[in-house]
Amino acid sequence: MGALIKNGTIVSATGSRRADVLISGEIIAQVGEKIVEEEHEIVDATGLLVMPGGIDVHTHLDMPFGGTTSADDYTTGTQAAAVGGTTMLIDFALQSQGHTMREAFDTWCKKSDRKACVDFSLHMAVTDLDPHHTGDTGYGLREMEEMVVEGISSFKLFMAYPGVLMIDDGLMFRVMQKAAGLNALCCIHAENGSAIDIVVSQMIAEGKAAPHYHALSRSPKAEAEATHRAIALADMAGAAVYIVHLSNEDALAALKFMQGRGARALAETCTQYLVLSIEDQMPGNSWEEAKFVFTPPLREKKNQKPLWDALAEGALSVVSTDHCPFRFADQKSLGKDDFRKIPNGGPGVENRLQILWHFGVNAGRITPEKFVELAATAPARIFGMEKKKGSIVPGLDADILLWDPDADYTISAATQRMATDYNMFEGWKVKGNAAKVFSRGELVVDNTTRPGEFLGATGRGRFVRRDANAGGFA
Ligand SMILES: [Zn+2]
Repeated sequence: MGALIKNGTIVSATGSRRADVLISGEIIAQVGEKIVEEEHEIVDATGLLVMPGGIDVHTHLDMPFGGTTSADDYTTGTQAAAVGGTTMLIDFALQSQGHTMREAFDTWCKKSDRKACVDFSLHMAVTDLDPHHTGDTGYGLREMEEMVVEGISSFKLFMAYPGVLMIDDGLMFRVMQKAAGLNALCCIHAENGSAIDIVVSQMIAEGKAAPHYHALSRSPKAEAEATHRAIALADMAGAAVYIVHLSNEDALAALKFMQGRGARALAETCTQYLVLSIEDQMPGNSWEEAKFVFTPPLREKKNQKPLWDALAEGALSVVSTDHCPFRFADQKSLGKDDFRKIPNGGPGVENRLQILWHFGVNAGRITPEKFVELAATAPARIFGMEKKKGSIVPGLDADILLWDPDADYTISAATQRMATDYNMFEGWKVKGNAAKVFSRGELVVDNTTRPGEFLGATGRGRFVRRDANAGGFA
């Protein structure tokens, strides 16, 4: 007994074919041309594409930032993901300076406990190693071993936000060496935070405090420089590295240069950098632009095509969201008179697949197979969970997305599941949307009959332990 998905077209990262999918319990039991019907519950997927559920490897749920907390908790955040066709998230546990990684892990386990509605995992953001014990017996480095045992096989390092999250190059290099020994992946926020902070102070001194100046204060060159530095240091340390939210052409050039030199370097971009720009969203004359204050900031439009090309050609491997939602009315407003105080981040987890499909596949920039690769299969492979997620293959979790390529959908905060009072793509009409979504075999979303609703139980999502596989290079 289990659902039998019939008459659909299975799209994988490598090809498409007509086949049925049989779900048994939480697992994909069988994939084949004509699976014999027994007492299965039949799901008719005529006209639909059958894909692995989306995996968004970059979200910040219930995250403290600048005196407030991101608006989506693990319940609304994972439900919004599911409604949009995403069945797995990797969120970030943030180590506080002076505290241990274990404390951060426990804190984020509590945040998700009985709240997560689809499966999730965590990256560990390392901000501190005991400076007196950086040898292999040092506590911080031992903790990295413990985290890998817990199934946290990726470590996030910040080259931005001095005094809060940023670590210096020596510490970053030491973490990279340790990660190399553990086969773990280093995820890097690549921006030169020290230089940016000087530009920021100078702008504020000149009275340039509007949201527009947030974008101008963070040069693409600061990102490109840090991208090169991070990959070069990782290469010296023998570590595999993954650049998060790569946003512009200069940083892309740095990535490609190091990839060409044989560095084990991967990178993601995010939906917002592919379709939003300074010209369109932040021309510089309104407080509304605070809706688009995130880091790295929006870039000039000319950066979009190179990013799309890099997705199609393979220099960029993943499209994530960096979903970090803050309400416009009472959270973004903390920085009304000073862009430094605007909580950094935007909502996006619910709309990732719609944007990627409409502006990618419909626009002829990527194939449906590439869509699956970027949205699910590569994230699973790179982050050590390809034996559980990311493909329609027998034995894997039945995280399955039935995608309707002909569905018309208008994006709006009024109908979204995300807990913000705005949407970055407000009023945009897209073609292509999630029709039905299965999470470990359970139908949790049916946008054809109950649009925008989450049908499963709150708290059903589970923590997924990931293998340390050096980003799939090893
Ligand atoms: Zn982020």
